[in-house]
Amino acid sequence: MSDTLDTIEIIRGRLRDSFAQASTDEQKQKIKAELKRLSDLQEEVVLQEFESVADEIRALTSTLQQIIDNLTGVIGNFFLQDFDKIGTQAGLAIRTAPPPTQPNSGRPAKRDRSRQPAQGSDTTSSASLDGWAGLISTYRSYDKVSAELKIASLAQWIQESGRGTSPLARKYNNFGGIKYRARMQGYCTPVDYTGSDGDSTTYCNFSSLTAFIEGYWHFIASGDSYSGWERYSHNGAAYIRFIAPHYSADPNYITGVLRLFEESGSLLKQGSNGSGSSEDGAPAAPLSNVATPEGSTARVAIVIGHNARSPGSSAVSPLSRTEFVFNGEVAAYMLRNAAQYNLELKVFTRQSNPSVEREILAAYAEAAAFNPVCAVELHFNSSDNSAATGTEVLLAGGKPAAAALASSITSALRSSLGLPLRGNRGLSVVSRGDRGWISVSALPNVPSVLCEPFFGSNTSDCVTVAGLGEEKLALAYLRGLREFVLSRNLVA
Ligand SMILES: [Zn+2]
Repeated sequence: MSDTLDTIEIIRGRLRDSFAQASTDEQKQKIKAELKRLSDLQEEVVLQEFESVADEIRALTSTLQQIIDNLTGVIGNFFLQDFDKIGTQAGLAIRTAPPPTQPNSGRPAKRDRSRQPAQGSDTTSSASLDGWAGLISTYRSYDKVSAELKIASLAQWIQESGRGTSPLARKYNNFGGIKYRARMQGYCTPVDYTGSDGDSTTYCNFSSLTAFIEGYWHFIASGDSYSGWERYSHNGAAYIRFIAPHYSADPNYITGVLRLFEESGSLLKQGSNGSGSSEDGAPAAPLSNVATPEGSTARVAIVIGHNARSPGSSAVSPLSRTEFVFNGEVAAYMLRNAAQYNLELKVFTRQSNPSVEREILAAYAEAAAFNPVCAVELHFNSSDNSAATGTEVLLAGGKPAAAALASSITSALRSSLGLPLRGNRGLSVVSRGDRGWISVSALPNVPSVLCEPFFGSNTSDCVTVAGLGEEKLALAYLRGLREFVLSRNLVA
């Protein structure tokens, strides 16, 4: 299941890229229509046995192929390059012949050490611009990596070079604080320099802005410790989480860079704001420290808040996703890891209905048929006050089991996210007419809660969550659920 969801997310990312690059309205319309079909398909995949929709995905693939064919030669070929990987993953045959007329536009192939850029030959119109402004201008037209990776890497360069003010940047076009390695030969020349970390060592001297950009991506693509970085092409935050331990010794590097995504995105302003990312192919977090006692599994219903048509509020950078999309990803990770927590999960999504009450009750009626020990609805919070922060879980009053469930979840979220618990230790009791009431009261005999782990309207909250990643948030939910199940003795 999660592989299929991953595939859908990767395809979605590619479609968004191609939308940003499409040159005619007709192409944009086609891509839009396919994005809509993908959303519908995602809902179905989450709801049903994914094998049963495999045929549908294959049908969709042939349409995707047509789009790819239509776009080939029109847009940069960077987005085509991963399609064979996607195809392999999904057992699909997507043909990815590179555009024959663009011999020079492939992004640096991993470990392709023979490919060397012509140094000092900026070919963009901004070649005359120097320094920071020139770098941004040059990078805007760079099309060998995804928009998400451009935002992520420029955020790094903002941090590394102090917005182009570091001596290393001004003297040597080295905006990334990149130390010289043998594998950089041909991309730069070595220069001795004492860095801000007091470390006197050999750094890269790039002959031009273009040489730096090419050199940075070669540095990543050719570094053994960065092997696998392409998996994060459509999730800039996941890319930073992946490379940070090797790129910088600063323990605060990840959050420092994530905080700069917004600035970076607005500097690049490319028609893509880094949203919609998803292919977080990060290996599952080690679970050895998690108690997974032997025992029967307990059934848990996961309800994803909002729906595909009306997806809830949007998180600010660097998360930049709606509640429905974000929580769909979290739920996919919960499914993937549930067995390790002796939980049997089923994910329910809401089908758009003019009556929100009917829409919610229909989802809970399906959940009830699954006969779960508890139900958890996934959201994130939002406020006009951008300083509003913290974790809360909504529940109905007078229900000790729901309170126990809420407490287990808030404490797991607290220990993972570290955000303040709002109100009464994070528990928010709602009454008829309050936000969340329909959900938490839909199943009178099943402990039900509605989770708001953070504020999507708060940049700092979003930096925290992006720094942690969707999978770790999913694991926090699973820990809370397991704790609840054990505490209530709900295993046979
Ligand atoms: Zn919501």
